[in-house]
Amino acid sequence: MNTNVPRREFLKKTAVAGAATARYTRLASLLAAGSAPRILSAAAVKPAALGGTPAHPGDFPPWPVYDQLEEKALNGVLHSGTWFRGDGKKVNEFEQAYAKLTGAKNCVATANGTAALFATLSALDVGPGDEVILSPYTFIATLNVVLLNYALPIFIDSDPESFQIDARKIEAAVTERTAALLPVHLGGNPADLDTIMDVARRRNLPVVEDACQAWVAQWRGRNVGTVGTAGCFSFQASKNLNAGEGGAVITADDKLADAIYSFQGNNRERNATGYSFKYRGQRAANLRLTEWQGAMLLAQMTRLEQQSQTREQNAAYLTKQLSEIPGILPARMYPGTTRNAYHLYMFRFQAEKFGGGLTRAQFMKAMGAEGVPCSSGYTPLNEEPFIRQVLASKGYKRIYPAGVLAQWAERNRCPANTQLCQEAVWLKQSMLLGPRKDMDDIVTAVRKVHAHAAQLAGT
Ligand SMILES: *Cc1c(COP(=O)(O)O)cnc(C)c1O
Repeated sequence: MNTNVPRREFLKKTAVAGAATARYTRLASLLAAGSAPRILSAAAVKPAALGGTPAHPGDFPPWPVYDQLEEKALNGVLHSGTWFRGDGKKVNEFEQAYAKLTGAKNCVATANGTAALFATLSALDVGPGDEVILSPYTFIATLNVVLLNYALPIFIDSDPESFQIDARKIEAAVTERTAALLPVHLGGNPADLDTIMDVARRRNLPVVEDACQAWVAQWRGRNVGTVGTAGCFSFQASKNLNAGEGGAVITADDKLADAIYSFQGNNRERNATGYSFKYRGQRAANLRLTEWQGAMLLAQMTRLEQQSQTREQNAAYLTKQLSEIPGILPARMYPGTTRNAYHLYMFRFQAEKFGGGLTRAQFMKAMGAEGVPCSSGYTPLNEEPFIRQVLASKGYKRIYPAGVLAQWAERNRCPANTQLCQEAVWLKQSMLLGPRKDMDDIVTAVRKVHAHAAQLAGT
């Protein structure tokens, strides 16, 4: 197996993982009970950036994880001679398996997550003149699909505690032109779906869940993507379920599933044998997944549950330990969260509470020297200069009154999100796949940097 976790240890870990599922309420009681810091003398240990020994000298688990299972799957497609989903069985099989896994009525595979979102917004007839409500703390694809449909993006400020859209602020931004809500479960941490669905029901709006980082994450026991009108997933190389590229939409709405299916297949109707030239009354494209990817996803899916449990268990432990360090604020989960997919382990670095005058950039550099690579994550999407260029383009100027475009920036200010972007620190999902000792090393690294913040700030 291409993984750093020995099999015996892996199985042992998986057996206890069910009990350790991170629930916010449970975590809160653990935190209240308190626990002794494992590193008692961080102050006495010299940080690697100041010439000491790194807290984590080795590697974190490699990504992707694969073995003969994937090799056989790919060889099977090769020798079948059917590499296109129209002839083969693998993409259909994957769609059925993914629907079963998520508890969805329908699943339509797409070429990637961007295509899943694009097909869904298009099938919902979101278009020129419409407004789409989304989070500014997300990957650029969430925005691109709105712009591809010539709709107007309306950003809602973030809740810095959770790193998610501040759902309490959505309703005030709804207008008669709002065509869809597009919340993201960023990092695999579910957005506040109770509040989002309440607004959606009262204002009669479809909800497209961008679940491109949230495979098997759950809200009140239901898989995310099945709570809203549709849920979109990505299987790109960095994602927890990986086929290099790939995507899928799940929905309970049969008509919407048919429209999405046609959209990803150049408008051909579903269930056609051979070449169907029966077309729907909509725009369309070729956004199909290949049999190679379908076969890869079926193989990778056999690892998803165990990997997800390991991530959850390690993340819960990490949160417990890191929460004891002043100035480190792990992302919180809403009470409805029954499972976090942990595509990212996210926390805020608060320089003023951490002390020593250490900046986030200096913190991350010192962590890197300890052998714990960190990322600063997203920059504010709503402040991207390219959006102004798009809004100033010929198409947008034809569609929207000059006043609407002129007021867009003022209407889309997200100060809490801008602050969040300055404080965020991410660890990537594969760092959560190793043994408990890796988590202790991460905590040791943070404690060492914390204890020597002033010296490190001067380096
Ligand atoms: C990865 C991702 C996407 C797009 O998925 P691709 O498969 O890369 O096209 C969309 N939204 C979010 C939040 C993502 O993380």
